[in-house]
Amino acid sequence: MGEAYKVELRGVSLTYHTPRGETEALREITLGVQEREFVCLVGPSGCGKSTLLSLVAGLLRPTAGEVLVDGRPVERPSGAVGYMFQQDHLFEWRTVLENALLGLEVLGRRTPAEVERVRQLLRRYGLGGFERHYPRQLSGGMRQRVALVRTLATDPAVLLLDEPFAALDYQTRLFLEDEVSRILRQEEKTVLLVTHDISEAIAMADRVVVLSRRPGRIVNQHRIDLGLPVKSALAARNESPYFRTYFREIWKELDVHV
Ligand code: ADP
Repeated sequence: MGEAYKVELRGVSLTYHTPRGETEALREITLGVQEREFVCLVGPSGCGKSTLLSLVAGLLRPTAGEVLVDGRPVERPSGAVGYMFQQDHLFEWRTVLENALLGLEVLGRRTPAEVERVRQLLRRYGLGGFERHYPRQLSGGMRQRVALVRTLATDPAVLLLDEPFAALDYQTRLFLEDEVSRILRQEEKTVLLVTHDISEAIAMADRVVVLSRRPGRIVNQHRIDLGLPVKSALAARNESPYFRTYFREIWKELDVHV
């Protein structure tokens, strides 16, 4: 018996076929993510990061290889996996609470007990008192938190986050990196987070997986040990002497040309 992974990709390749030709997005990706592990994927724009998340979410099927969640092949989207996109996709005509309840409604699981649980989640993410507000009345950081609560509302064991903080200003971003990584760890989620920001990846992850330019292949993986008593994204950036070492190594591997 091999090691049991929560999420596993075995020799996964994906080529998009379009009327204008073929695009090889991912080539032979083999990756295992442990239960409760926080993995960040970094790589140049267009190297197939979002494609990889869509495969794990069951929105795409691989051209070759296998994608497994809990040891079973992924065939369609399921409640076990939550996917949060780069844009928050909030409905402007629904209140914060109604937006957060959307996933539960779709699954036919909107019960009073679940509504109460979502209210608690909103409070936990600093949105208590904003349940009846509309998205346009919120800051970018708050909107992003509503989107996160909506993803968490169905209680998926695996969370896929695609550039969740990309649209935010720098301060909000640092704050949310810290807060979100702390809460997701407390909730014992298995997380795959995509970012093109090396610092964000080092600050948040247990492991950083570096992808090449398209077609995305795994260049290297770094287990992050910043030598801090508690994992904290802010402390990682500010206090860890190892932070810059990881940054330099990953920067070189990304082979960025300007
Ligand atoms: P990343 O998230 O790393 O920026 P993507 O996974 O979005 O990369 O895209 C990888 C490559 O596949 C890009 O070249 C992109 O243009 C192409 N691509 C993405 N989605 C589609 C699609 N639905 N049809 C055709 N090509 C696509």
